[in-house]
Amino acid sequence: MFIVWGRKIVRRKLGYVADFCPICRKPATFELQRIGSAGHIYYISAGQGALVGFEKQCAKCHTSLNAEPTHYTSVADKKLAFPELVAQTFPKLHEALKARLDLEEQIRLAPATISPEDRQALIRHPFLLLSPKVEQRYAATHLDLETVLAFVGAIFLMIIGVAVAKKVALDYEGPALLVFIVVGIVMVGWQLALSGRRYMRKHIIPVLAGSLKPLKPTSRELQTTIDELNRLGHKMGSKLKAADLSRHLSQPAP
Ligand SMILES: [Zn+2]
Repeated sequence: MFIVWGRKIVRRKLGYVADFCPICRKPATFELQRIGSAGHIYYISAGQGALVGFEKQCAKCHTSLNAEPTHYTSVADKKLAFPELVAQTFPKLHEALKARLDLEEQIRLAPATISPEDRQALIRHPFLLLSPKVEQRYAATHLDLETVLAFVGAIFLMIIGVAVAKKVALDYEGPALLVFIVVGIVMVGWQLALSGRRYMRKHIIPVLAGSLKPLKPTSRELQTTIDELNRLGHKMGSKLKAADLSRHLSQPAP
């Protein structure tokens, strides 16, 4: 018997904390998670596994960032009203993050006063924060709804097509089956190829555009950043189109 076993990442929710979200550009509620590496048999694991680290996920933009639990006074077991969450988990949030909050205000009120070097770093930062999410998505094959529908459609087409061919011209049942198999493979392959761009458009571009909006980056600045990511080997560099991002940035905020 073939046994599937190995190690897998296990995330355990520890509770909620208040912190600054560099994607949302403001203090936000985060879910704190313990990341463990546990042994599994048929993808079923027991326990939380050996400690790998901690992550916090922003409740608004759902971006996961590295976390350090000792940073917080305590961890709230449920989502509280934000001022209450700050008081309980990070009472000195505004003092501790003063420099960053002042910078965000400068970005909002006087973006022209930011130096070109700082501006480039500020534009690059959200790309780098979202890059691990893109790497994770492309590390394995994912079937989104459209691809599954294409697969189901291909099976139906094959069944119905062969049944029709059988009625119309009995001799062509074999070749007809072959044609529908090829059509089905093309349909599924085409949807699989499009699914990557769909993922970027649905899950990455809106979040990235929201974060970049106050900086009002030009198409040239976006292209320079994408080229830079490409050179450094980030998947995001090849999957992201500056035009898609510019289009989203020019749309009014929802
Ligand atoms: Zn956020």
